[in-house]
Amino acid sequence: MSASGLLIFISGPSGVGKSTLCRRLAADLPAEFAVSATTRPGKPQDALGKKYLFVTENIFRQMLEAGEFLEYAYKFDNWYGTLRKPVEDGLEAGHTILFEVEVQGAIQIRKMFPVSLGIFVLPPSMDDLKHRLEVRKRDDEATILRRLTEAQQEIRSAQACGIYNLMVVNEDNGIDKTIKTIKRTIKTFRRDEQNRLF
Ligand code: 5GP
Repeated sequence: MSASGLLIFISGPSGVGKSTLCRRLAADLPAEFAVSATTRPGKPQDALGKKYLFVTENIFRQMLEAGEFLEYAYKFDNWYGTLRKPVEDGLEAGHTILFEVEVQGAIQIRKMFPVSLGIFVLPPSMDDLKHRLEVRKRDDEATILRRLTEAQQEIRSAQACGIYNLMVVNEDNGIDKTIKTIKRTIKTFRRDEQNRLF
């Protein structure tokens, strides 16, 4: 698949601060968010971050059969799939596209776009992640425990799959430092790509 723009995918457990990081990066780079369809209901904070198209399972299946997704995954009892067309159009126009996806989706993206940049965001510790999930008050106790178990699995999968160029710890009150590290990685990646091409 030919692409002239830059494709960046960002993953990390729930509560690690991914959405805020992605919003900041999208504004700073600048980059476009890849749009996803999902069967999960909308949440108030969706207005701020990555763009979702909220659909029924039936519609999701129809879209899947019509080849409208670049990749898709089942996560937290819901389906998620990245819309193919806006990504292909954006890359062809030379834009930077930012994907916020879980690890299985990221693996599919890397297969399709071998020249892409993968970033995995880690919490400072599991205790810290638990605390962050508790203070944001979005989930009950059982859901928080489930998210923590999933987080451990996701971190293990991310370390094992070897597709991430950067695994960065997002420290408490450390978002500026995290952004700086990510931007430095993007700069190096772009420079290496240019050197490879010329
Ligand atoms: P949330 O429901 O909290 O917005 O997202 C739940 C998880 O699904 C997050 O890990 C998020 O990165 C991931 N996700 C969101 N959209 C997509 C998508 O289109 N494809 C895949 N594979 N994962 C997604």
